[in-house]
Amino acid sequence: MGKVRLKDLTYSELEEYFLSIGLKKFRARQVFEWLYKGVESFDEMTNLSLDLREKLKEICEITTMKIVEKQISRDGTVKYLWELSDGETVESVLMDYKHGRPICISTQVGCNMGCKFCASTVGGKVRDLTAGEISDQVIFAAKDSNCSISNIVLMGIGEPLDNYDNVTKFIRNINHFAGMNIGARHISLSTCGLVERIKQLANEEIPLTLSVSLHATNNEKRSSLMPVNKKYNIEELLDACRYYIEKTNRRVTFEYALINEVNDYKEDAEALFKLLKGMLCHVNLIPVNNVDTNNFEKSSMERIEKFRDTLMKKGITTTIRRGLGSDIDASCGQLRRRHRKG
Ligand code: SAH
Repeated sequence: MGKVRLKDLTYSELEEYFLSIGLKKFRARQVFEWLYKGVESFDEMTNLSLDLREKLKEICEITTMKIVEKQISRDGTVKYLWELSDGETVESVLMDYKHGRPICISTQVGCNMGCKFCASTVGGKVRDLTAGEISDQVIFAAKDSNCSISNIVLMGIGEPLDNYDNVTKFIRNINHFAGMNIGARHISLSTCGLVERIKQLANEEIPLTLSVSLHATNNEKRSSLMPVNKKYNIEELLDACRYYIEKTNRRVTFEYALINEVNDYKEDAEALFKLLKGMLCHVNLIPVNNVDTNNFEKSSMERIEKFRDTLMKKGITTTIRRGLGSDIDASCGQLRRRHRKG
């Protein structure tokens, strides 16, 4: 039997596990605190006796991640390419804002959702990340950059709701007072629209911010950009979002990547307004990033601002995403892809 990977357990699972191997419950608190400080061996856990450290070494494991590549942008954005214990790689992006250090992390190695504009989906999903591997991105980025992380954005490689159990476990761990203590309100989760899972998440009582990747306003166009729409169409998706809002009383963010002369017309903005009218929501416009597998072009800033103004005039709060890290491969999947090809 392999060693128990402690960061794959929740706090209460860790307590139960320690009780089952004859340890006192309070040991779980001590070990949990060390794990989320980024220790790499039991020897660093100086408040445990030498005997206990030896015992834990034999049966448990502290996972770590190796930095394969690190890119630092002029604006302070740091992009990490990590190597996991089986040699697979994933990316995270640590941002540097005046008000804090958000990190965008991956939830899967690759992705099965097949969005036509996205670099992460090329080659499909290799595997899910474990809860510990999702946490490790936060833990080791904070350690490497010597900073404390203010916000978590689940928007890197993968579809978080396609790895539901590990992602919710991760959220509870990173949220735990004995760990990194990052409040759920400082966590956002982005999904391409897995309707059943959105409803399930609504019932978890985790007050995070849900972002939904919409990108088109009619089913024909959305299905051609995002195959997931053939399974859950726009109407079903928006129903699930309304359910989420009703249950959580939280504002939902709709992500809309603007692709030149594909989905950036005035009619699209008007149709988007009609779809979202009356919902507690916010729209975030993203100038699409060109990836080498497609020939989508970014809309011009003029078209983007017009699109925003149309929505704003009708009373929908709309922002345009700042293009941080544009001088490095800062959008998801690009660094892993380049590494795999190279
Ligand atoms: N699977 C989740 C989260 C990962 S993608 C989701 O689909 O939401 C994070 C966001 O980046 C999504 O809104 C996604 O649609 C968007 N995105 C992916 N590729 C992009 C690209 N080339 N340009 C702009 N946005 C992109």
